[in-house]
Amino acid sequence: MERTLVIIKPCAVQRGLIGEVLSRFERRGLKLVAMKMTRLDAEICRRHYAHLADKPFYPIIEESMTAAPVVLCCMEGIDAVEVVRTMAGATNGRKALPGTIRGDYCVSHQENIIHASDSLESAAQELERFFKPEDYCSYDNPLLGYLYAKDEL
Ligand code: ADP
Repeated sequence: MERTLVIIKPCAVQRGLIGEVLSRFERRGLKLVAMKMTRLDAEICRRHYAHLADKPFYPIIEESMTAAPVVLCCMEGIDAVEVVRTMAGATNGRKALPGTIRGDYCVSHQENIIHASDSLESAAQELERFFKPEDYCSYDNPLLGYLYAKDEL
């Protein structure tokens, strides 16, 4: 099983979309194994978006990501990184396909509802940035045998 980080961004928190976003992942069959609501500060935001820190739009990212709380979620499943990225849709909400989270809930490049890790390597780094080992909850999913075939598990 893979683990990946989802950040429900301040725009979605402000718009009352936390439940809608989480329910999509739950319905799909992803397992929520850690979750916390917090407010990002400028330093952690800069670390998280280090690959964009020298872009002209970086100040907008920082302003937007620190404007209100976020919800940090760790989702678990087979190929979870790719499954969650596909569900998120294109970065620019105006280009995201209907049926994706961004395509259904936003029309903005920045105010695009969620962050989702883009590789297994970045998922591991990002999860370490935001969660401690004791933040993870271990519990059985009795539906596992209905979510996946025997040869997938
Ligand atoms: P993604 O979030 O799809 O992985 P990136 O890592 O490229 O995309 O960008 C991170 C975040 O930075 C985006 O989700 C978006 O909030 C913001 N962003 C990226 N590019 C732009 C842009 N050209 N204009 C405004 N915001 C942007």
